[in-house]
Amino acid sequence: MTVNVLFAAQPNRWPQYETPLRIALDDTGLDYDLRTEFAPSEVDYIVYAPNGSVQDFTPYTRLKAVLNLWAGVEDVVGNKTLTVPLTRMVDDQGLTQGMVEWVTGHVMRHHLGMDSHIVNPDRVWNNSAPPLATDRPVTILGFGALGQACARILTTLGFPVTGWSRSGHPLPGITSMSGDNGLTEALTGAQIVVLLLPATPGTANILNAERLALMAPGAFVINPGRGPLIDDAALLAALDSGQIAHATLDVFRTEPLPNDDPYWGHPRVTVTPHIASETRPPSASRVIADNIRRSEAGEPLLHLVDRSAGY
Ligand code: NAP
Repeated sequence: MTVNVLFAAQPNRWPQYETPLRIALDDTGLDYDLRTEFAPSEVDYIVYAPNGSVQDFTPYTRLKAVLNLWAGVEDVVGNKTLTVPLTRMVDDQGLTQGMVEWVTGHVMRHHLGMDSHIVNPDRVWNNSAPPLATDRPVTILGFGALGQACARILTTLGFPVTGWSRSGHPLPGITSMSGDNGLTEALTGAQIVVLLLPATPGTANILNAERLALMAPGAFVINPGRGPLIDDAALLAALDSGQIAHATLDVFRTEPLPNDDPYWGHPRVTVTPHIASETRPPSASRVIADNIRRSEAGEPLLHLVDRSAGY
């Protein structure tokens, strides 16, 4: 029987995804039909993005799974009309690689103090060399697909890396922590903190005034995770006091970041417009097609969202 796959991300994504999805689905050997429109009762799988057209899953009576193109699922995980398995995007060759590059770049910028050499209008000859990576402890909050991949590269560069997660993930050469005490320990003395947690009720405002104060004086915050992870007022106060030397922020409570937001133009803040990493159609299409193949073969789906945990 033909497997009907509805592409329900934003319409401007269809030209980027149609060919890679067809190539990847062809490779599965399945008899499929891929379209942007079907009668809802005929759809088996939805290739999904939370900002697309489908918000009510009730009419999709024969739906087998929803395959999210994004890593973050906070805008769909609580949808009560969704009663079938939901997967999120984990793609080593695309999304993860992009995040590793972005995080490594911003860690290296702050580690090497590049700004003072790139912008030096007074021609100051400050020849003090930065410390080596081995003397720059980095903590990554959120130690899943993205956090672990960043940790591996930063460790290879020599940084002492600590990862913090709910369950703890022992990795060779990396300190792994969990729980409230683990969070305190992971942040104490950290010189660079990278946030790669999902947005859930349990992670809201996790980087608050008390925890910012645990970090080494003059530390750096890098947030490619989600805006609500940070208590914004606390971060602005820590930046003004110098406790935090600089924050590089890719994600915000409101996006696009409103024109009058205090982060814009703050001398100690770098705003990037939610570009840390994006889903890449060729490799992401292979992840999606593989999950459809698995489902049709009765195999477990990869990258299933735990609806009760919220990610
Ligand atoms: P993931 O594999 O699900 O990893 C999430 C990590 O956070 C896991 O280690 C998890 O712990 C931990 N965690 C979740 N809730 C926690 C809590 N309450 N306390 C402690 N740890 C907790 O997700 P991912 O693929 O790495 O992606 C992480 C996030 O990055 C996404 O949710 C998304 O928001 C963001 N993102 C941003 C961009 C961008 O362009 N800015 C792009 C992609 C993703 P366990 O390991 O114990 O489960």
